[in-house]
Amino acid sequence: MKNETPFIDKNEFLFIGGPCAVESSEQMKAILSLPFGPSVIRGGIYKMRTNKNSFQGLGIVGIELIKEIKKSHKLSFVTEITDPRQIDGLLPIVSCFQVGARNMYNYELLKELGNYQVPVILKRGFSATISEWLGASEYLQALGQENIILCERGVRSFDNKLRNLLDLGSVIYLKKNTAFKVIVDPSHAMGDRRYVSDAAVAALAAGADGIMVEVHPDPDNALSDGQQSIGPEIATELVQKIKELAPHFNKVLRV
Ligand code: PEP
Ligand code: MN
Repeated sequence: MKNETPFIDKNEFLFIGGPCAVESSEQMKAILSLPFGPSVIRGGIYKMRTNKNSFQGLGIVGIELIKEIKKSHKLSFVTEITDPRQIDGLLPIVSCFQVGARNMYNYELLKELGNYQVPVILKRGFSATISEWLGASEYLQALGQENIILCERGVRSFDNKLRNLLDLGSVIYLKKNTAFKVIVDPSHAMGDRRYVSDAAVAALAAGADGIMVEVHPDPDNALSDGQQSIGPEIATELVQKIKELAPHFNKVLRV
């Protein structure tokens, strides 16, 4: 049966915020109690780290932690899935799966996810062309276009001043030529919290349907990606700014 409720409605600009990785119950509750009351929260439970000695995510402990929080808080939870064997464990807590840049080409994972009625955010691979990215989306096609959300997160380039090269051209192209919802991850694109808000506003102007931003209650002490995570103050300012600007682009902010 097809899921009839799109994850992002027409004319909505969705703000997905939350830490790179779920670290503790206190951390997640701090995100939930931000002044703008975020309802769609991201948080990695299975992390794909470049260095195997880096924090790998809480795994099953993280799943239990989110289950506990869901008993008392209404939240829509987005988390990365890195292996089809995680599906059963994650299904009770996810509203939307995230397939990360490293797994965009993992066609077996994509085929498997196509069997479930859970929306999927498909991130662009580090060096994937738009055609390769759209090719990967076809493995998810059983979900229908309204439940596949493409996420531009920057690509590798010759320039190492920023973490990645945010390709807003891809957003413009995809919105003009496909029916997909397209969101932008300004955090992994820029790699530095000082630039995240401006990139997020640029995403709105480029026609994106939302942003997925790393927000941490205490970025300097985050277990992963602290340098690019925005804290409560910047997040609150960003949400306010987008709320004001969205109507100029025929969108309404959903936070
Ligand atoms: C993430 O969103 O946590 C992440 C690891 O991003 P990416 O797959 O784009 O590197
Ligand atoms: Mn991250």
